[in-house]
Amino acid sequence: MARLIDTTLGHKKQIENLLNLRSKNRFPQSVAFVGPSGIGKRRVALAVAQTLVCENSPEACGHCGPCIRIEKEQSESLLLVKPDAEMAKPAIKVDDIRGILDSLSLTSAGRARIVIIDQAQLMNDQAANALLKNLEEPSENVYFILIAPEIEQLLPTIRSRVQVVRFYALEYEHLRTLKPNQPEWAYRSSRGQLTELEILTSKQGLGERQEALELFEQFCFNDDFLLFSEWRNSMREDRQWPLFVVKCWQQLVRDALVVQTGSSKFVLNPDQTELLKKLSELPAKKLLKFSAELVQASRDINGNLNSSLVFDSLRVKYARMD
Ligand SMILES: [Zn+2]
Repeated sequence: MARLIDTTLGHKKQIENLLNLRSKNRFPQSVAFVGPSGIGKRRVALAVAQTLVCENSPEACGHCGPCIRIEKEQSESLLLVKPDAEMAKPAIKVDDIRGILDSLSLTSAGRARIVIIDQAQLMNDQAANALLKNLEEPSENVYFILIAPEIEQLLPTIRSRVQVVRFYALEYEHLRTLKPNQPEWAYRSSRGQLTELEILTSKQGLGERQEALELFEQFCFNDDFLLFSEWRNSMREDRQWPLFVVKCWQQLVRDALVVQTGSSKFVLNPDQTELLKKLSELPAKKLLKFSAELVQASRDINGNLNSSLVFDSLRVKYARMD
């Protein structure tokens, strides 16, 4: 058993600052960890929890009972809240928060208790409101750690009551250590997010990328694209697939612009040399417009517009761009 702090990759500065506060007994009782998903914020929260419960050291020892139970996420000092993934639209409900607050009031004060609210942006308004008073005046030795991608996604009333710690994407070398022997394009395209890397390199992810690449080639270089029905059918199922396609295409268009500047070594899809070469022969102005339209397409799909129609209109606009 080791301290979670020692086995957490990246986020050195954030961890150092948090440890520093802990050693001075000034660890904030209401804090929000914000940053891209899949980079280890929750792990840092658990690492911090160890320092708060450890019997031996304010920097955690990693081998005492309380440290081990935190690592296993089976600690009576640890209260984890996350959205119900079974729900059609996952959310953290007021009952989830009340349940936590009740158990906080039942257990005796004294030992530290850490409440980690994962994906706190998914708290509905009622849930967030139920939490407010506790964030403002937490009981002694109770620590709230809210985790979210962006601070703006939390209600202003929550934001004003928490201290914010910002986290950033992992470095390539960290991704390589965490998940070695993956294709280079996957490390680059995942933009420092481990979960993204895992999705991209899963069997399904690899197949979807291949499909998105083929679709892209047809979209850009086949005048009959709008006559094909196959891609149209594939867009019907849910939003995930069309959103993935748009994201993949955005990276390709970005890469083509990078190739035009002569710095090919910075492309995110180094395995797509031929496609990128062909694409980079389009005028930069067209690529920039295309890129902007892809951003809009992603917004439209997220806004529940019919994905197939979004691609129809994108293709029409693409043909007119010069
Ligand atoms: Zn310990």
